[in-house]
Amino acid sequence: MNNHTIQITVRGLVQGVGFRPFVYRQTQKFALNGWVQNTNESVVIRVTGKLEQIAVFQHALRVEAPAAAIIEEVQSKEIALEEFPDFRILGSHNVSEEITEICPDIAVCEECMEDIRKPGNRLDYPFVNCTNCGPRFTIIRDLPYDRAKTTMAPFQMCPDCNREYEEITDRRFHAQPVACNVCGPHYELFVNGKSVGTDTTFILDQLAHLLHEGGVVAIKGLGGMHLACDAFNETALQKLRKLKHREAKPFAVLFRDLDSVKKYAVVSEVEEQSLCSWRRPIVLLQTKGKMSEQINSGLNLLGVMLPYLPFHYQLFERLNTDAIVLTSGNFSSEPILIGNEETLEQFSSCTDAIVLHNRDIYNRTDDSVVRIMHEKERVFRRSRGYVPTPVNLKLNVEGIVAFGAELTNCFCVGKGEKAFLSQHIGDLKGLETTTFYEQTIAQFIRLFRIEPTLLVVDLHPDYISTRTAEQFAPLPVVAVQHHHAHIASCMSEHHLDEPVIGVSFDGTGYGTDGNIWGAEFFVCDLSDFSRRSHFEYVPLPGGDMANEEPWRMAVSYLKKVYGREFIKMDLPPLRQVEEEKVEMLVRMIDQNVNCPLTSSAGRLFDAVASILGICQVAAFSAQGPMLLEALSQADFSGNEKYAFRLGESINFDDTIRGIVNDVNNGVEPGRIAAKFHQTIISVIFETVETISNNTGIRKVVLSGGVFQNKILLEGAETKLRENNFEVFSHASIPTNDGGIALGQMAIAAKRRELKCV
Ligand code: ZN
Ligand code: ZN
Ligand code: FE
Repeated sequence: MNNHTIQITVRGLVQGVGFRPFVYRQTQKFALNGWVQNTNESVVIRVTGKLEQIAVFQHALRVEAPAAAIIEEVQSKEIALEEFPDFRILGSHNVSEEITEICPDIAVCEECMEDIRKPGNRLDYPFVNCTNCGPRFTIIRDLPYDRAKTTMAPFQMCPDCNREYEEITDRRFHAQPVACNVCGPHYELFVNGKSVGTDTTFILDQLAHLLHEGGVVAIKGLGGMHLACDAFNETALQKLRKLKHREAKPFAVLFRDLDSVKKYAVVSEVEEQSLCSWRRPIVLLQTKGKMSEQINSGLNLLGVMLPYLPFHYQLFERLNTDAIVLTSGNFSSEPILIGNEETLEQFSSCTDAIVLHNRDIYNRTDDSVVRIMHEKERVFRRSRGYVPTPVNLKLNVEGIVAFGAELTNCFCVGKGEKAFLSQHIGDLKGLETTTFYEQTIAQFIRLFRIEPTLLVVDLHPDYISTRTAEQFAPLPVVAVQHHHAHIASCMSEHHLDEPVIGVSFDGTGYGTDGNIWGAEFFVCDLSDFSRRSHFEYVPLPGGDMANEEPWRMAVSYLKKVYGREFIKMDLPPLRQVEEEKVEMLVRMIDQNVNCPLTSSAGRLFDAVASILGICQVAAFSAQGPMLLEALSQADFSGNEKYAFRLGESINFDDTIRGIVNDVNNGVEPGRIAAKFHQTIISVIFETVETISNNTGIRKVVLSGGVFQNKILLEGAETKLRENNFEVFSHASIPTNDGGIALGQMAIAAKRRELKCV
C-alpha cells in the first residue's frame, strides 16, 4: 500500500501541556514520519505513512491527549506526498498576532512525585515538574510560553536539566519550569522575620513541629500565600481566626488523602473526581459533623482540598494530623498576598513562621471553589486550575473588555470568538483589591494582545468597576443590566442565542427603574430583555447595611404583613435584637429614610433566616441563606409548602404568615426551612409555566448567586424538567457575580453585531 502525507492542525489548549512530546510518542507507535510545530494559533503536524495508521493516530490525538489539554478542533487534509527520514519537533513559529491559549496551573503528577524519592538532583526537590504538571498561568509574564517569559527566567538550567529539556523523548522536553536542587528555586524559612534556613528537610521538619505545637504559619504557594494550622487544634484555629480578622467565614481544609477526607465528609463519585482532578479545587462537601465548629461555623458544608504541590505531600509525610487549614494569606477582604517582602512585613509578628520561596508569582490566583449539584461540577470561585481557559462564545468578541460587577468581581477580555474570564478578583472595596483589579486588567490586555474597542459595564453608576472603565475613555461604553448579564452568562456557557425564559435570583443588582432587583423573571435573548415578573418590592432598611444584617429584612417583611403591631409578637428577631434598634428601623421605614426598594431573593432568604432565629447579623456574605439551606437539608420532606400570590409582582405575605404561625406553633425549624425552599421552587416553576404559556418558550435559564443553593437549584431543575422544560444552569462559569463579565461580553457582542452600539 502507498504512503500518504496528511497535514493535521490541532486547535485548543495544546501549549504547555506536553502535547508535542505526546504527538512524538504516538508517531513512534504508528511508525509515522514527519514533524510537529507550535505556531501561535495551533499545533501543526505533518505525517507520512499508511492511511489506516494515520487514521488511528488522529483518533489517538483526541482520546489519549494529556489530561490538561483541551482539543477543540482537529482539521486534516492530504497534501502532496513528502517522505521524511524520521519524526521531528520543529522550533516554534510565529505566524500572526493570534495567540494560543495559556494552560492553567496543574497539580504535581505521580511520576514527578516518584522522581523526588529517587537519588539524584531531584531528591526531595519541592519544585519538581514536567510537561504534564507544574506551574503555568501563575508564572507566565508573556506569550509565547517560553521560560524567558516566565518567572523561571532568573534560574539558569543546569546541564542535567537542560539535557532533559532538549531530549524529545523525555517527560521534561520543553517543560518551561523544569528545575532541580542544583539549579532551581528553593524554599526559605523565616522566624520572627529572620531567615533561619533554606534546607528543604530542615524547613519541613520545623514546620511540622510548629503545626503539631498549635502554631499558625504562612506558606507561599502557587498563586499566593496561605495561612495554615492544624485543623484539629482548637487553640490554633482560634489564633488563626483572630489573625485573619474574621469571626466566622469558613476555612478551607487540606486533607492528607482521599481516605482521610471520607472520615469527615460524604464523598460521591463525581465529588471524588473533582477532588482528584489535576485542577485540585476546593470542593464543598457535606460534613459528617466531626470537624471543629470553628472551621465551618455550623454549616453542613466543608471546603476540602487534596495536596497539589510537592511541598504539601512532603509536609503530610511528617504530620500526624490528617488535615490542616489552608486559607488564603490575606486580611479579610484584601487580595491574597503574593510578594515575599509584604508577607514578611505583614505576617512576621502574628505567625509562628513564614515559609517563602524565590520563584515569583506573576499572576495572583486563589484556590478555586466548586460544588457538585445534580452530578455536575459547578465552579463558584474560578481561579487556580481553571483560569485562563477561555469560553468560545461563537460571537465576535474581539476588543471587548467587560468590567464585571462590584462584589466577587471577575472581568473578561475578548479575542476573536474567545472570552477570557479573569481569575477571581474579589470585592471591589478596599484600595488593595481595586489596585489588583486594575493591574490584572492591564496584564490581560497585554498578555492576550487585546486592542480595546468596546467597553461593557454594569448599569450601576457608582460601581468601582463602572468607574474603572472611564479610564479607557473615549471608547464606546455599553451599560448592561445586572440580571440580564447573569442570564446571558449562562446562555453563553451553553451557546444559546435565542429567546429564553431567564430566572435570575441573587442578592443585589441595579434595576432599570432605579430599584434594587434580585428575583427577576425575564423573557430575553442576548441583546435585550423584558421583565415579566419579580418578587414584590419591599423596603431595604439601611440600604447596604441590610445585606449584612438579616434582622432588618425580617423587620421589613413583618411590618409589611402585620403593620406596626408586629413589634409585640414573640419572634426570634424581636427577642434577639434590641427593641430600640427595631423601633428605629420601623421609623426609618415609615419615614422612608434610606429605604430603597428591593425585589431581592437573597434578602427574602435573609428575612426567613432571621425569623427562624438562626442568623440576625451575618458574619460573612450569604450566611443567612446558607444556614437556612443547611437547616432544611436534614428534614427535607419535599412536599409541604407555604401559600403565595403570583403575578407581575409576586407576593409573599401568606408565606411570611405561614412561617410565623409555624414558628409560634413550635414547628421544627428544619421543617419550616424545607417548606420555604419548596415554596420558592413552586414560585419558580409556576411563574415559568405562565410565561411559557404566553410565549411558547420552553428553554429556561437559571442564574444568579442564589442558585448556589443545592436544594433550590436541584429542586427547580427537577420540577421544570419533569414538566418537559429544557433547563440550563451554570457549570464551568460561576452562577454568582463572578460570571457577570461573561454575560456582559456576550450582550455587547450581540448588540455590536446587530449594530445597536
Ligand atoms: Zn510531572
Ligand atoms: Zn537542574
Ligand atoms: Fe448578581
